[in-house]
Amino acid sequence: MKAAVVRQTPDGYVDIKDVTLRPIKNGEALVKVEYCGLCHTDLHVANGDFGDQPGRIIGHEGVGRVIQVADDVDSLKVGDRVSIAWFFSGCGHCEYCLTGRETLCRNVLNAGFTADGAMAEEVIVKANYAVKVPEELDPVEATSLTCAGVTMYKALKVGQTKPGQWVEIVGAGGLGNLGVQFASHVFGANVVAIARGKNLEEAKKVGANVGLDYRDENLDEEVRAKTDGGAHVSVITAVTPVAFNQAINALRPDGHLVAVALPQGNMDLSIAKTVLDGIHVEGSLVGTREDLKETFQFGAEGKVKPIVQTRKLSEINDIIDEMKNGKIVGRMVVDFTK
Ligand SMILES: [Zn+2]
Ligand SMILES: [Zn+2]
Repeated sequence: MKAAVVRQTPDGYVDIKDVTLRPIKNGEALVKVEYCGLCHTDLHVANGDFGDQPGRIIGHEGVGRVIQVADDVDSLKVGDRVSIAWFFSGCGHCEYCLTGRETLCRNVLNAGFTADGAMAEEVIVKANYAVKVPEELDPVEATSLTCAGVTMYKALKVGQTKPGQWVEIVGAGGLGNLGVQFASHVFGANVVAIARGKNLEEAKKVGANVGLDYRDENLDEEVRAKTDGGAHVSVITAVTPVAFNQAINALRPDGHLVAVALPQGNMDLSIAKTVLDGIHVEGSLVGTREDLKETFQFGAEGKVKPIVQTRKLSEINDIIDEMKNGKIVGRMVVDFTK
């Protein structure tokens, strides 16, 4: 079967190779992939940014149908549509796995990085970790919910977002756009989106009450003015430390700063502001299986709709170039059904 694999000397691109998967073992299932989205995280893996993984099959935004299950598997059956997410599996018995924080497991496996991923015609999954995709949900859209969708849903949960509150989404690109949709349509919050140009227009179209250009001077003051005293929750998807500092200053007392983007460097955290205003600073990383199940349900109900477009596997290195050059609006999804 064909698969996109990290090159022997990782250089940011992948090779399309014929790969033979090993037979499945106890607890596993074999999935015939229908669609798999290409994510910036895949580009980091292909470039060796998280450590070299030559020969690794990339892909963690996969959706497909189960075609075989091991004898001991009872959580999946042949024909089920499932997802392959970055959170591929946890150990199942550590303090994090046992208390609903499984993405923090120290023995986690990540699809397309430490386990072979879904940018392939077939993928082996751990049956108990492959979250089912509802039949009412478009499988192409489901690929984006598997990664960006659940990441934003979880970040808003971490920020303890409540109906009627003000949520600031800093950086309203692909990830942020979904953040606006979740904040507005699922959490019932008011949204300030920080972006520019087309991304800002799109953010307003999908529910942002206020849109501000991140180049504005005194941006934090503007946010405080538009939100009657500051945002309750600020979710940062912009890959620049400046965005973090601005967002801290735009929060109201008892506000939550939820860090999602991963720029290099440190954030300047005013100790006085943090202490005197009781500011919460939290990191948030993808989501658990239960978070993903809920995310899919909101997608199936039409509350959130990712921007997606299908492409061929043979175009994958072209897509990588387009992503590096920032030419893409929404997500490119490789179609394995043809
Ligand atoms: Zn991703
Ligand atoms: Zn664990």
